[in-house]
Amino acid sequence: MNKPAELKLDTVPCWIGGKPVVSAGRMGEVYNPATGQVARRVPYCDAAAIDTAVQAAMAALPDWRDASILRRARVMQKFLHLLQAQQKDIARLITAEHGKTLPDAMGSVQRGIEVVEFVCGLPQLLKGEYSENVGTAVDTHSLRQPVGVCAGITPFNFPAMVPMWMFPVAIACGNTFILKPSEKVPSAAIRMAELFKEAGLPDGVFNVVHGDKAAVDAILAHPGIAAVSFVGSTPIAKYIYETCAKNGKRVQALGGAKNHAVVLPDADLEFAADALIGAAYGSAGERCMAISAVVAVGAAGDPLVKLLEKKAKAIKIGPGDQDGVDMGPLITGQHRDKVASYIEKGKAEGAKAVLDGGKPSLKEGYFLGTTLFDHVKTEMEIYKHEIFGPVLIVLRADTLEEAIALVNRNPYANGTAIFTESGGAARRFENEVQVGMVGVNVPIPVPVAFYSFGGWKNSLFGDLHVHGAEGVKFYTRTKVVTTRWPHQDTPAPGLNMPTLG
Ligand code: NAD
Repeated sequence: MNKPAELKLDTVPCWIGGKPVVSAGRMGEVYNPATGQVARRVPYCDAAAIDTAVQAAMAALPDWRDASILRRARVMQKFLHLLQAQQKDIARLITAEHGKTLPDAMGSVQRGIEVVEFVCGLPQLLKGEYSENVGTAVDTHSLRQPVGVCAGITPFNFPAMVPMWMFPVAIACGNTFILKPSEKVPSAAIRMAELFKEAGLPDGVFNVVHGDKAAVDAILAHPGIAAVSFVGSTPIAKYIYETCAKNGKRVQALGGAKNHAVVLPDADLEFAADALIGAAYGSAGERCMAISAVVAVGAAGDPLVKLLEKKAKAIKIGPGDQDGVDMGPLITGQHRDKVASYIEKGKAEGAKAVLDGGKPSLKEGYFLGTTLFDHVKTEMEIYKHEIFGPVLIVLRADTLEEAIALVNRNPYANGTAIFTESGGAARRFENEVQVGMVGVNVPIPVPVAFYSFGGWKNSLFGDLHVHGAEGVKFYTRTKVVTTRWPHQDTPAPGLNMPTLG
């Protein structure tokens, strides 16, 4: 039974061994950012609570990794249907804890659901290779086997989608999983755990723990955890990567972003401006794929900034669950103040504040207006840092070459976009830009489940992106098996490596 009543708990529990558990010890508060009021409490796990979850995941591992791949895929199919039926419930939880608008939350849950849809076909991707006669009467085949207990540590900005980049793939591959969602938005994870159990997932295969650095450090140190996936800010991503490497764990750690959109003078500027407004201010700029820097080339600059100003002014700000609202609040009061301080810095640094949204008009909640800066220089703080708020900056470049060089000098390299009518210019951009995800007349290359998602440079520590075929690689280990069935006419090998096949 899908009972939204379970979502109204005052305390959001952990989920360990197939049931809700409230660990003893520290508690944190979960806010409704649209009101600034505390809405729920959440336990912060310590090392002992993390160990309980690891023990549950280890106990469930042998049966789950040996369950037939079709059985695993069928649980995923059932989970898929339950998620589709409960999409709006999950989206409402996201809006209540994160603040983004309900339609935006629905879209983000949809992107996560698509990963579950993708892994329903996982038996096809788990097929190994086989070569007959690698030597005379000797055959070799390869297997992809689960790595063991995996953990996911996720950020506040996508409470359902980012966890679903990870755990459906890991679990379909035969691993068991421990998710540590952001302590700011803990409820969606618990709702997904309930639905997964209802889909027939055995207890202990999927566990959810809550908390802050102490919980994360206990995950990184636990010898029972084989692999860690992380998505969050760059300094923490680097810390996770280094600590996991030191502790002998497989790791992928996706970090922050400063995504540039290059707009050439031949672009349809009205179309480009609409796309940039959505990408810059959607979800109040709290997206890893937000376009936060526009590089206007040559004559595109002045008319583009005029269009951006007009459209950014028209954005309706308010609580995310109200009809007609385009942009909700920021996640916390502290984050709102940090974004506001960047706006002050930008003005002090001499950037032109075309629109200054630094002073919120709403009395309660963590709202800010839309800010647009023009004539920003690369040495300014507002360019160098990921602001993660509704602040769009415009830099000017004379040529495409100069624009590409500017994008490539930035240490972040998550996503980028080009707006142009020229196929040649777009091809050159695609070829030369040093960034992991590229949009051509598409501002935010949203995650496509059957492709992978991830950046380069300071936006990703590790070798493999999430989901798609790269996700399957991350959550499996290759084993190569070579077989000979001796009989009388094949001589036994001698001491030397064979020179003939
Ligand atoms: P964050 O780095 O503060 O937190 C991410 C996770 O790490 C959370 O679960 C948090 O509890 C934990 N954490 C926080 N501080 C820690 C510490 N000192 N030690 C150990 N663990 C710690 O990120 P956030 O503010 O929740 O999310 C926003 C960031 O995530 C932005 O930088 C954004 O660009 C990034 N992000 C990146 C992608 C991507 O695909 N590259 C996607 C979404 C978000």
